[in-house]
Amino acid sequence: MFDKVLIANRGEIALRVLRACKELGIATVAVHSTADVNAMHVKLADESVCIGPPTSRDSYLNIPSLLAACEITGADAIHPGYGFLSENARFAEILESHGITFIGPKSEHIRIMGDKIEAKRTAKKLGIPCVPGSDGGVTDEKDALKIAKKIGFPVIVKAAAGGGGRGMKVARTEADLVDAFHTARTEAKAAFGDDAVYIEKFLEKPRHIEIQVLGDGQGNAVHLGERDCSLQRRHQKVWEEGPSPALNESMRSEIGEVCAQAMRDLGYLGVGTIEFLYEDGKFYFIEMNTRIQVEHPVTEMITGIDLVNEQIRIAAGAPLGIKQSDIKLQGHAIECRVNAENPATFRPSPGKIAYFHPPGGLGVRVDSAVYQGYTIPPHYDSLVGKLIVHGRTRNECLMRLRRALDEFVVDGIETTLPLFRTLVRNADIQNGLYDIHWLEHFLNAGGMDETPSA
Ligand code: ADP
Repeated sequence: MFDKVLIANRGEIALRVLRACKELGIATVAVHSTADVNAMHVKLADESVCIGPPTSRDSYLNIPSLLAACEITGADAIHPGYGFLSENARFAEILESHGITFIGPKSEHIRIMGDKIEAKRTAKKLGIPCVPGSDGGVTDEKDALKIAKKIGFPVIVKAAAGGGGRGMKVARTEADLVDAFHTARTEAKAAFGDDAVYIEKFLEKPRHIEIQVLGDGQGNAVHLGERDCSLQRRHQKVWEEGPSPALNESMRSEIGEVCAQAMRDLGYLGVGTIEFLYEDGKFYFIEMNTRIQVEHPVTEMITGIDLVNEQIRIAAGAPLGIKQSDIKLQGHAIECRVNAENPATFRPSPGKIAYFHPPGGLGVRVDSAVYQGYTIPPHYDSLVGKLIVHGRTRNECLMRLRRALDEFVVDGIETTLPLFRTLVRNADIQNGLYDIHWLEHFLNAGGMDETPSA
């Protein structure tokens, strides 16, 4: 096992990793930018190192600074959290060459899954069902048209290097496609420095369902059920839950086993998420995330398995401690991502938290790194915290979530709490009847115009 882990991240995920390390008896090193001197992860770590100015590029993404921080503190492993360097294969290789363990998958697997074209090709080879589309990248307008006609409109043009919902354009007609093709390429070049794009059938009313997997790199792998992340705004997840209201036990174990077997065949190491769009009883692979995800607590609440603990143990060379038959899904969990944003316009609202009262009680978990008197800096994402609620049934979970949301007080900044208070009372949500467009339609139709008081 590691003696000391450096956490190359900030916010709630840095705290989450820190907690897992403490439980494993591992010493922790926090790193921070000058904007994060007063951050909770810095206060709770055994040691901390300032790695640069507020801009992420110069601090949390600064590889030489992170290496220096390891050297100064004697850390023998780095946990990258999510975002920042968590899916950077080059970073994993650099660490390896310096004798520092990257707590994550093998760099070759990060690289394959980081390129969406390569990822889709690999998924297909491994027997994972994919969205019909181009065989690989498309560079020519004429080819784009040919493919679109073959699979049928509407189609979606996606950046091979895409992420965070950026670099995607939908086309409903041939004229649209020419436009979409060129804009997607230009945007992909600007955002990711790579103009490779590919084309897929655009699914009209899918749900976003993802399977959590865990492998030990020695040919053992399990799946830990699914999360339904269909409630999205601008392709960003807002509310995640598990199990999905749309799946039954046999569908779950069927797709889960396909994913687990694929990970055994790949020799995958660590935690991963295989993301699908799900429509009319069929799954379509969209991508694989080779890191811990924001919404991982949903799975932890229904399996009782500490995913970050597993991630660290496996990175240290331990074999998978669980068999598929050990994993029993219990009850239902929902996560709400509470952001420092106006709940109707979603304009960021950084600033000082004047009063902070998180909810508590049975089945209520708050993963957050803020505290009363803390000032949310404007330089990073606007996540205030995640509220995760567990109940024996979906209905109990919803009732408990409603109660917890009503108890949650964050004063001094605007948050998206009122949005969740509205959603938890909505009939479609209560009945589990929503697809990936539901939330945008709801908001466009003025669903948040009459905001309940914060
Ligand atoms: P990113 O890595 O940027 O998050 P994804 O490929 O995971 O990109 O897609 C993000 C979201 O975009 C999906 O959850 C879904 O809402 C939408 N999307 C992606 N591909 C399709 C498709 N073929 N049809 C319909 N919607 C899609």
